[in-house]
Amino acid sequence: MPELVHTPLEEIDKIYAELRAGFQSGKLKSIAYRKYQILQLGYLIKDNAEQISEALTSDLGRPAFENQFLEIGPCLTDVKNAYSSVEKWAKPEKPPFSINFTPMRAIIYKEAKGVVLVISPFNYPLWLTIGPLVGALAAGNAIVIKPSELTPALDMLLAELIPKYLDSNLVRIVNGSVPESTKLLSLQWDHILYTGGARVGQIVAMAAAKFLTPVTLELGGKSPVIIDPNCDLQMAARRILWGKTVNAGQTCVAPDYILVPRSFQDKFVEALKAAHKSFYPDADGPAARDAYSRIVSPQAYKRLKGLLDGTKGNIVCGGETDENSKFIAPTLVRDVKADDSLMSEEIFGPLLPIVPVEDVDEAIAFINARDHPLALYVFSQDAEFKAKVFKNTQSGAAVANETVIHPGADGLPFGGVGPSGYGAHTGKFTFDTFTHLRSSLDSPSWIDKIIGFRFPPYKASAIKSARAMAPSLPARPTGPPTTEARSKWWGKWFFLALAVAIAGGLTKRAKILVRS
Ligand code: NAD
Repeated sequence: MPELVHTPLEEIDKIYAELRAGFQSGKLKSIAYRKYQILQLGYLIKDNAEQISEALTSDLGRPAFENQFLEIGPCLTDVKNAYSSVEKWAKPEKPPFSINFTPMRAIIYKEAKGVVLVISPFNYPLWLTIGPLVGALAAGNAIVIKPSELTPALDMLLAELIPKYLDSNLVRIVNGSVPESTKLLSLQWDHILYTGGARVGQIVAMAAAKFLTPVTLELGGKSPVIIDPNCDLQMAARRILWGKTVNAGQTCVAPDYILVPRSFQDKFVEALKAAHKSFYPDADGPAARDAYSRIVSPQAYKRLKGLLDGTKGNIVCGGETDENSKFIAPTLVRDVKADDSLMSEEIFGPLLPIVPVEDVDEAIAFINARDHPLALYVFSQDAEFKAKVFKNTQSGAAVANETVIHPGADGLPFGGVGPSGYGAHTGKFTFDTFTHLRSSLDSPSWIDKIIGFRFPPYKASAIKSARAMAPSLPARPTGPPTTEARSKWWGKWFFLALAVAIAGGLTKRAKILVRS
């Protein structure tokens, strides 16, 4: 593994000053220049995909397939989407019509925040760095990225490639660990997007508060899975196990633990074991070359080994470990209790505890007694079951019959709630994160013919005019509603059907007239 060359601390001030000047130059006011930089970034990835994949494998012991599927592909998608949508995203928007303010030419301009900082974690070091970079560029910001020191091969490669492909007055990389991050956080940024653990998230938020800098915190937590016996069992087992084993479980939205009805645990465990067997058919199992990732660092390995050694649950599959290669096999542990070591913190590794509960009500109560997770999964074929779980819990995302891939779903925001973070990113949401919505009016002189009464000296008639401007409220309620307000969707469909019928009738009539 290559040794990481840290950015000298004294250079960080210089980088910051150069980016401030770069932003002030106004180059990124031009959408064409933003698109040029975004496309350059796309080619940085495309031209060097092989080297990037090798670097990721060197850092994370990861199979090439996962590098392509979970990082390189999603980066190119981000580039493509931003490149083709930035004009639309950046277009000034008119607010809804208002009798009072539309004549004042009310408009919202989408403006860059300025010079922004992106701090990213080790687990998806390419996508969680490049994705925010694409969005920040699309929004017209100058950017510093600070990747994790735990992925030195990729960090060094990016340090070499970024100046070759991107405008150094607008995009820079700072490599290093705590001293470099601390130095970066001592400076005033116009937005910070941090992805990582909650402990460092607090440090970032506190440093930002000193300058009142807005922050997006993309954190983690324990993402639960609820199993309904009425699920497609084989599919559920495969998708859950894949979500837990991809990147060796080092995924912020990996299924952290499973809540399964006690009476269904045996059947469910058997299905997971069968899925495990089908994933790793080689004699070497998951230890086979290119089958499965390794744990990122000796410290992370020790932490996970400690959690595994401490469990009082029954290991039914896996459990093999090797300190030298930082290998921990995908491990299923059944009959896990709430006070188990595996339930003490976010696992962030390939250990999957199965916690038996009585029923869905106990599962919901279990989740609600803990921090809001980043993702909540339910496997069921029953719409009411799924609705019950979603309606009675809170989480960053609520996903049925799938795991892990929702952060890549086009058009969905990705973010947490409460202790799993705040703010959202991916696609247009990253653009929005780095955009200031600048409200604007351009009020013509004739407006004062209508609201000239606002100027002192205040006359008695002025208050009457001001009252007349205030809206009237809907009718006073007679008491709290007894039933939930019904959606009016059927009304829209009724009018649409009516319009189609009328149009059809008219066309038929016109044809008859033409023929006659
Ligand atoms: P981490 O918190 O250890 O490190 C993240 C970043 O913070 C790194 O760049 C690191 O150099 C920097 N950092 C470390 N100490 C710092 C300090 N004292 N001051 C300033 N910066 C510091 O996280 P990690 O181990 O790389 O990632 C794992 C965590 O990230 C998990 O909790 C996971 O759930 C979370 N995560 C969240 C998302 C998401 O999108 N919500 C995505 C990936 C990972």
